[in-house]
Amino acid sequence: MNFNFCSLSSGSSGNCYYVGNGFHGILIDAGIPATSIRKFLRNMMIPMETIMGVLITHNHSDHIRGLEVLLRKNNLPAFTTREVWNSILSPHSRISPDCIREIPLIKKFHLAGFDIEAFPVCHDSPETLGFHIVAGNRKLTIATDLGHICQTSAPYIKAANLLVIESNYDELMLMNGGYPPFLKARIKSDNGHLGNHQTSSFLADNVSENLTHICLAHLSKNNNNPEKALATLYGTFADRGISLNGSPKIIVLERNTPSEMISLLS
Ligand SMILES: [Zn+2]
Ligand SMILES: [Zn+2]
Repeated sequence: MNFNFCSLSSGSSGNCYYVGNGFHGILIDAGIPATSIRKFLRNMMIPMETIMGVLITHNHSDHIRGLEVLLRKNNLPAFTTREVWNSILSPHSRISPDCIREIPLIKKFHLAGFDIEAFPVCHDSPETLGFHIVAGNRKLTIATDLGHICQTSAPYIKAANLLVIESNYDELMLMNGGYPPFLKARIKSDNGHLGNHQTSSFLADNVSENLTHICLAHLSKNNNNPEKALATLYGTFADRGISLNGSPKIIVLERNTPSEMISLLS
């Protein structure tokens, strides 16, 4: 069985990710228009009928903007915790009750051939989730919005073979940029986003030979760019005397362009 991952879109203007096994697949978040999701999947020769559902990380619009239409037009279920559902559903919501699936926190459930565990991360929504997705001995962890890596999320992040982790902002670009002080403080806070140095330091401290792929995700449009994120990562590893000779493979996920399809080998 295959274990494939790709990003359809990653960043503060829209997030959507795909995990599949060659037969079935799952989407994580639907923060771009449903028409774009369908188009990207079609371009990758992934039939919509093979998508078994959408996992939802949290209620911010860059993660759920396309959700209602995607569910309605494709008759798909969506999976998240009660707390996240409470933060998404309002009296005006047009999400059909038939689409709503409630999942436990820190407890495995099974979907599309994968064992999946949702874990809480620190971010400024009522509840925000990361997902740990396992098939056989292959493990993917995705955490796209988190202000710091806490004791609860760290073990999931350390256990991944393929890690999709936020590297949201370059600390100097944020500090010297035009955002108002309250917004800078919000982004930098423990419940905001991870900066390039934060992510790179954690990775350098915890890199293991199990880790085969690092995907840097959710880069800010205004306060970061792929060159800065990569330079910080390589620089931090070099400072610690860790050489990166092609393993783990480092990929920066783009904002508006789907990534390559990454396959985890068993
Ligand atoms: Zn986000
Ligand atoms: Zn968010």
